[in-house]
Amino acid sequence: MSGKGTLYTVSAPSGAGKTSLVKALVESSERLRVSVSHTTRAIRPGERDGVNYHFVDEPAFTAMLGESAFLEHARVFGNLYGTSQAWVEQQLAEGTDVVLEIDWQGAAQVKHLLPETIAIFILPPSREALEQRLVGRGQDERTIIESRMAQAVEEMSHYIESDFLVVNNDFDLALAELRAIITCQRLRTPRQAAELDGMLADLLR
Ligand code: 5GP
Repeated sequence: MSGKGTLYTVSAPSGAGKTSLVKALVESSERLRVSVSHTTRAIRPGERDGVNYHFVDEPAFTAMLGESAFLEHARVFGNLYGTSQAWVEQQLAEGTDVVLEIDWQGAAQVKHLLPETIAIFILPPSREALEQRLVGRGQDERTIIESRMAQAVEEMSHYIESDFLVVNNDFDLALAELRAIITCQRLRTPRQAAELDGMLADLLR
């Protein structure tokens, strides 16, 4: 798969604010789209099929796996998640940059397959802040919060595999940093040279 667009993975423990940041990033950027994953997990209140995820059952997911429909897939917290290969391929070929909001296992698969992928990791500013955000999500029991913290620590331990680390202490600052990463990649010479071929030909004639 060699497209003109750049592929990004964004990973983070739940509670780091990844989804809100990616949403704000995509809404405020031109030619940048987020991939809608397929998942076997149950739909949550407020979520919409086809918007947050494509919600499918396990047989449907397995059938898609059999058709090699996924660029990557992983089991996360007991549910299956996968990224549509065809959609990503098409966007990149059209010159659109694509963000995959996926866990560390998926990010590792994508990096292995497409080494030019830019892997971004978002961290909470502290353990306390993370715990507060996890508790803030609902009235869950102590044991559930503790298990989510343990899962978060496991996810965070993979920060080292990423190319960029963003700390979400201040939302606007974290968003500006994400935008800076995208801008930086777009200004790389091979991409600019392809983008500006007409201008360059004229300048150099
Ligand atoms: P949630 O079910 O809370 O939306 O997501 C749980 C975890 O699954 C998050 O870490 C999220 O990034 C990850 N995830 C969502 N979609 C995908 C995907 O397509 N592939 C992989 N590998 N992980 C995903």
